Amino acid sequence: MSEAIPQDARIFVAGHRGLVGSAIERRLRALGFANVLTATREQLDLRDQAAVNYWFRANRPELVYLVAGTVGGIMANATRPAEFLYDNMMIHATVVHASHLFGVDKLLYLGSSCIYPREAAQPIREDALLTGPLEPTNEPYALAKIAGIRLCESYRRQYGCNFISAMPTNLYGPHDNFDLTSSHVLPALIRKFHDARVSGAAVVEVWGSGTPRREFLHVDDLADACVFLMERYDGDTHVNVGTGEDLSIGELAVMVRDLVHPAAEVVFDPSKPDGTPRKLLDVSRLHELGWHHSIDLADGIASTYDWFVRNAARQKSITVPA
Ligand code: GDP
Repeated sequence: MSEAIPQDARIFVAGHRGLVGSAIERRLRALGFANVLTATREQLDLRDQAAVNYWFRANRPELVYLVAGTVGGIMANATRPAEFLYDNMMIHATVVHASHLFGVDKLLYLGSSCIYPREAAQPIREDALLTGPLEPTNEPYALAKIAGIRLCESYRRQYGCNFISAMPTNLYGPHDNFDLTSSHVLPALIRKFHDARVSGAAVVEVWGSGTPRREFLHVDDLADACVFLMERYDGDTHVNVGTGEDLSIGELAVMVRDLVHPAAEVVFDPSKPDGTPRKLLDVSRLHELGWHHSIDLADGIASTYDWFVRNAARQKSITVPA
């Protein structure tokens, strides 16, 4: 698959309504791919193997981006462990299996940096997988993601399928989830400072101690990396995708505050969990393959805030400032 992918290839983006899937669909369409296939949740329950097989038989995708799943931030993971484990295990299994049954040429499976042990040496190399205990706040999700990686490797080994895996760091961008109970930290901070600005509140609460460190990648960069790997990478080991740079949650809160509501004071809420102390990926394998991110964090936050304000009017509970 190292030659260019034909513009009329039938490409299934599983999960096109999500943060990642919508970015991959945008990227593929911008590159001129004419047969991007999608299915909404209402049209196709990806947890149902019979339904997925039926869909693959009818649509015959040649390439698959498997980026569908039940996702969320630290609270959603902690309070809905059954959904995170069941939905993701099932979705990964049905799509991988149908891709094998119906002769898909290549599949890219998207994991997550939470697959790595809580105490992994930083920056985290790909071979840190399964070398220690996981972070408890997202263990069910991580287990489903690890099973997905092993699933791709096993189908590759037993059936010769060209199924590859990419492990992205924390993502953000347009079409993110801005709901405060289920979102990740960056959209949550954008929403919290925005709401405080609109209501005139002087204080914004940030969960935990502010000391955990995270790495953030704009989803348009991730989409670009996924298309790059689909075109150029056929290896059997998963590949980390990130920027190679991290910052503390406290520093991130100040960045968002300065952009959205500079007058606000940041206050930490230690009753909320910190999660894993640090999650910074070693991206040397991806750099060696020839891919680097291009969207700087400050620019990415500014454009995401702009997207949020322009699209907030659609969400009744969010007020757009004058
Ligand atoms: P994680 O990377 O899997 O831990 O997922 P999150 O993006 O949900 O959280 C990252 C860090 O940001 C954790 O230490 C959270 O406690 C912290 N954080 C601070 N404020 C918030 C918030 O309002 N929402 C979320 N989701 N996390 C927050």
